[in-house]
Amino acid sequence: MERYISQLNEAQRAPVLQKDGPMIVIAGAGSGKTRVLTMRIAYLMAQGVDAFNILALTFTNKAAREMKKRIADIVGNSEAKNLWMGTFHSIFAKILRFEADKLGYPSNFTIYDSQDSIRLIGSIIKEMQLDKDVYKPKQVLSRISTYKNSLITVKAYYNNPELQEADAMSKKPRLGEIYEQYVERCFKSGAMDFDDLLLRTNELLNRFPDVLMKYQDRFRYILVDEYQDTNHSQYLIVRALSDRFQNICVVGDDAQSIYAFRGANINNILNFQKDYDNVQMYRLEQNYRSSRNIVEAANSIIDKNKTKLDKVVWTANEDGPKIKVHRSLTDGEEGRFVASTIFEEKMQQQLKNGSFAVLYRTNAQSRAIEDALRKRDIPYRIYGGLSFYQRKEIKDVLGYLRLVINPKDEEALVRVINYPARGIGGTTIEKLTVAANHYKRSIFEVMENIDRIDLRLNAGTKNKIQDFVTMIKSFQIINETQDAFYLAEHVTKKTGLIQELKKDATPEGIARIENIEELLNGIRDFIEGQKEVDGARGALSEFLEDVALATDMDKDTGDDDRVALMTIHLAKGLEFPHVFIVGMEEDLFPSAMSMNTRSELEEERRLFYVALTRAEHQAYLTYAQSRYRWGKLVDSEPSRFIEEITDSFLEYLTPVETNYRYKPMINNDIFGDVDKSKLRLNKPTNGIPPKWVTDNDPKPDSGIRRLKPMSSGSAPASSGPAMPDSKLAVGNVVMHERFGKGQVLNIEGAGPDKKAEIKFDVGGIKKLLLRFAKLDVI
Ligand code: ATP
Ligand code: MG
Repeated sequence: MERYISQLNEAQRAPVLQKDGPMIVIAGAGSGKTRVLTMRIAYLMAQGVDAFNILALTFTNKAAREMKKRIADIVGNSEAKNLWMGTFHSIFAKILRFEADKLGYPSNFTIYDSQDSIRLIGSIIKEMQLDKDVYKPKQVLSRISTYKNSLITVKAYYNNPELQEADAMSKKPRLGEIYEQYVERCFKSGAMDFDDLLLRTNELLNRFPDVLMKYQDRFRYILVDEYQDTNHSQYLIVRALSDRFQNICVVGDDAQSIYAFRGANINNILNFQKDYDNVQMYRLEQNYRSSRNIVEAANSIIDKNKTKLDKVVWTANEDGPKIKVHRSLTDGEEGRFVASTIFEEKMQQQLKNGSFAVLYRTNAQSRAIEDALRKRDIPYRIYGGLSFYQRKEIKDVLGYLRLVINPKDEEALVRVINYPARGIGGTTIEKLTVAANHYKRSIFEVMENIDRIDLRLNAGTKNKIQDFVTMIKSFQIINETQDAFYLAEHVTKKTGLIQELKKDATPEGIARIENIEELLNGIRDFIEGQKEVDGARGALSEFLEDVALATDMDKDTGDDDRVALMTIHLAKGLEFPHVFIVGMEEDLFPSAMSMNTRSELEEERRLFYVALTRAEHQAYLTYAQSRYRWGKLVDSEPSRFIEEITDSFLEYLTPVETNYRYKPMINNDIFGDVDKSKLRLNKPTNGIPPKWVTDNDPKPDSGIRRLKPMSSGSAPASSGPAMPDSKLAVGNVVMHERFGKGQVLNIEGAGPDKKAEIKFDVGGIKKLLLRFAKLDVI
């Protein structure tokens, strides 16, 4: 153990050696927070703390696995196995299984993934005969999710006129009813969605003091990584569990808080000292991950944020190469640049594919990169996006398996009742659903009793329904005597799924069958793993739980050597020698959706900080002058984040034109006798070329940001666009790219902080920072 402790610096050692009491480690990226957490656990165990009494909460299951492996190296595998370590969701799903009956849930409850939830909400919206263009299922789910993560139950929602008003204002006056229905239907199906796993845990700990005592007593030492991204619901769980022994250690970095949009609350980190007595606060300042150029460039970015804790991050590492900036004409060319650079660097420096990561703001950007990598035969893996377990054919098989475990599971039932087709059509399913809602029973129970309920179904249909029930019950019997692999294989054959897929001889069809084989292999592996752990027969319900909570990241065994492609959000906590951050363009990164308030923009900046600090040795920033977005070719300008980095850390690979977007193709004859020094280009809108205007023209180019000249080599534009807000006045009618037409009600602040309060015809009153708001006066 001493050997390991000596591998820490002094600042890192302190929180490892402090055995008891509440403590918080706040430190910048790459300073060893995760390493401290790992060592702390090992050290606790070395001092005789029982692994069963330690709970460690991580951001991904993969992170938990890696941590466990490292701890096993130090204290031995047999002990490390007993640690409670995983994501909030996976740990509390396990606890809820034990305690489900107290909450009126079956212990075999299903976990709905977001696809299931969206589908259920979609059908509720349809049944309520609401307009699905107004009530978009995904949006509705996200709203409900926000409520749940703030512990606003349906009842609390109805007791809160403000929330109802806000929903009414956003044209969703019936959101409460959907919320209510959704909760009821999940409950009736014996299903919990992701947010329920936290909400119900809170309910459990609140309502049952003896249960709370039990888990407080079990988890005597609690550790949380990436604490800055915990939401309110998670925060309350941690607080309740740690209340008795107060042995709580959280580590995080406020500068890396990037999940506010999903309810993460940075105040959890800021208020930690108030929540516990005698909190020890530790700071780590030395970055071990990245070369000096990267560390300092990252510092220069995060400096621009106003809301932050003061932190020092320095490194003793070598300077390393500068951050390379590359401009291309199109996103296709950007992809080719990434691929050829990886190709060359691999050759020149003898690197593995796994040394490279390509990070992007949105999933849609991966396609162009993938195409280019494929053409160069460079193996890659995409993280995120549709996970393996969410593919249709896989969900179909899982649907049957879920029904075997929990026949009340409505989403699973609706999914497979008529797939492959067995003559139970939409109308029948509708009748069954209505009856189930009426009797407050599950659809399956209605089906079991189909002889006794008059649904005006003909005898043939009734038979088909009974056949289906019998089939599922026969699977249940098999499940009692055989293992999960046997059952799964049996199900794929008996239900006709495989035969159905075999009809499709296209490569896609064949791939689907291969996927199912892959799933069966996965089940077999799982069973083998279970046997190793505790000699138990592989339990299907445990496999299903694992699957429901699996993210793509978790499947990564790191065995094969591939370039990693993922969104920046997913890259949190990871590190790679070479990192490409692509799509460094205004409206993409920072995202167009996040430029209305300072706090949104600051979150985007933190996201950029996270991206850049993933790189150990070399970072690339690339942008394209135009790219396909939503099927259209859109012009773009370089991200402000590039400008925000101190110039001396950057190296431009392509000559930089200042304001290329507005660069005139000057034809001296066009202007006749107009004074050219007063000419500017107006703001080009998509597809329409920019036009020369003078100050006297009716449409000033308000909203065009002045771009700083990006390299000393190119001359600054002498007639750049005027400061955007100079002419805007109260009463002006303006056009905004996203909100449309509106009227200026008020103007406040000055210079770069100048804001306008604008009442938009659609969307109501908004306060916009004029520096970023793209406004045209009309
Ligand atoms: P992030 O904020 O990105 O999650 P972090 O603070 O959790 O970063 P770690 O991932 O724990 O940082 O550490 C970053 C890298 O530095 C890792 O490769 C780790 O092994 C290494 N490292 C940390 N501390 C030391 C040390 N004292 N000596 C050598 N290497 C170290
Ligand atoms: Mg970390």
